Amino acid sequence: NSEEPWRPFNRSRVYMADLESALHYSLRVEVAAHTVVKGEALISLKKYVAVLAKYFPGRPVVRNLLKSVDSWLQNQTRDEISYEAFKDILDNSAQSPDAALPEGVRWVGCQGSQPHLRRYPCGVWTLFHVLTVQAKNTRGTDPKEVLMAMRNYVHSFFGCRSCAEHFENMAMESLMEVDTFSSAVLWLWSRHNLVNNRLAGALSEDPNFPKIQWPSPEMCPACHAVKANGDHSWIQKEVLPFVLSYFSSSSILTDYLE
Ligand code: FAD
Repeated sequence: NSEEPWRPFNRSRVYMADLESALHYSLRVEVAAHTVVKGEALISLKKYVAVLAKYFPGRPVVRNLLKSVDSWLQNQTRDEISYEAFKDILDNSAQSPDAALPEGVRWVGCQGSQPHLRRYPCGVWTLFHVLTVQAKNTRGTDPKEVLMAMRNYVHSFFGCRSCAEHFENMAMESLMEVDTFSSAVLWLWSRHNLVNNRLAGALSEDPNFPKIQWPSPEMCPACHAVKANGDHSWIQKEVLPFVLSYFSSSSILTDYLE
């Protein structure tokens, strides 16, 4: 809530508290808007949870919970599930001691200067950058797996419907070009910058967190170059290792976890 005290944080780091908060919000709030999950939405939910179970670089208790939700979902052979049944598994109603997803949100790197700014959408971007990097590092089999899971999750569940439409258009335009794990990481980085560019100066921008073309020259001097005509250009062979290191599991800070 808006009464919460501000949590000091490092603006150039990723926080596990934001990733867990994004999981809580997506699985307990956004998916909960569907009393019954069926058809396309059920396929989206299964793929999303499968990708989380495989690549979420979290605490063992959270990973165990994601694995148990994943195996329960994969065992559901009917075309629909009730959110109630899903919630029982999510809340570990069987009370296995080593599996849990903390209740509630605790935003840190995604805190906003107003309650309606940043938070969950910031958490979603952060989560999927982390997952594309994790898929590359653990050598999954399908380079599009994480991005397709994100595309379908956003399409079926993301509360901001105009955002979902914009994202689907970007996916239709160019997601098929992704053919390696590195290009998947860079695809999400460059689409995120397109969104930043479109939203710079909009009402949804937090004045304390202006939309920039990321990473800034201060964060990664080697990522930027100036062409002969004066235009800016990205040095992708510098951007890739920067993004990989920024979102790698070993760089994620665990401050403020319950
Ligand atoms: P965010 O853009 O949420 O970014 C979170 C963090 O990621 C930043 O603080 C930074 O550390 C890092 N980051 C920034 N850029 C990059 C990059 N290029 N690559 C890697 N990391 C980066 N809002 C709208 O008003 N209209 C829309 O159409 C819209 N579409 C959206 C589509 C999707 C799929 C999502 C997840 C969100 C969308 N949003 C949209 C919300 C918007 O993009 C921001 O998430 C929100 O305004 C909060 O912004 P923020 O300042 O927290 O930074």
